[in-house]
Amino acid sequence: MTARLWNKTASLSNADMAKEGRRLGLRWQNAKLLPSVTGEGRRQPILKAAMIEPEESDCLVVVDVQNDFCPGGALAVADGDAVVPVINRLIGRFAHCILTQDWHPPGHQSFASSHPGGKPFQTIQAPYGVQTLWPDHCVQGTDGAAFHAALQTDRAELIVRKGFRPEIDSYSAFSENDRRTATGLAGYLRERGFSRLFIAGLATDFCVRYSAEDARSEGFEAVVIDDACRAIDLEGSLAAGWTSLQACGAQRIRSDAIAA
Ligand SMILES: [Zn+2]
Repeated sequence: MTARLWNKTASLSNADMAKEGRRLGLRWQNAKLLPSVTGEGRRQPILKAAMIEPEESDCLVVVDVQNDFCPGGALAVADGDAVVPVINRLIGRFAHCILTQDWHPPGHQSFASSHPGGKPFQTIQAPYGVQTLWPDHCVQGTDGAAFHAALQTDRAELIVRKGFRPEIDSYSAFSENDRRTATGLAGYLRERGFSRLFIAGLATDFCVRYSAEDARSEGFEAVVIDDACRAIDLEGSLAAGWTSLQACGAQRIRSDAIAA
């Protein structure tokens, strides 16, 4: 991030660079004037390593860290439980945190078992578009739908449940897969005065991706914390996800960019 900022700010004044740093959510640390590397005798400002300091208008959004998405679960994401200690540290760093929870009734239409001859990971044409079929997972009230036992949920200010309508799947924390049915989260976050969302959880290429994209289209800044997510990676879905996230203006960081 520092290198990116350097490229972008090499020709800016100190004041403009400070402004750019603030826009990117970076803590401004004394800019230093160093001799120009261009040999033109100019002196150019650079930013020292910058860290993100969570602010009152930031909210950590923890997506679907549930037993069924962790090793041993019905729809296990490889290494999915590795996000738990990383997210627990992040929960300690943010003043505000919300959780999402995939929450399906038995016989949900996204389950392969609900379609004669249906196989998990096959796609079907649902009334709202292409839908991947999944193993039965996160059935309401089951242990698989519960949060990972080690996830520190006590400070969560809201739990958003999604996917509870029998006929519609829901990847995004903001809207169901028909792209019209809202979960209500955008309104909640706006009323709370949040403007920047830091998103972590499972899985990078589905629920994290679509939550971050919808955050952008709802007018929030979206920052995906790479090492606090794990992916399913179905036929290139992870690479496609990152490309799409970059295109919509979401940022990608590592958790160590958040000030301790
Ligand atoms: Zn689901």
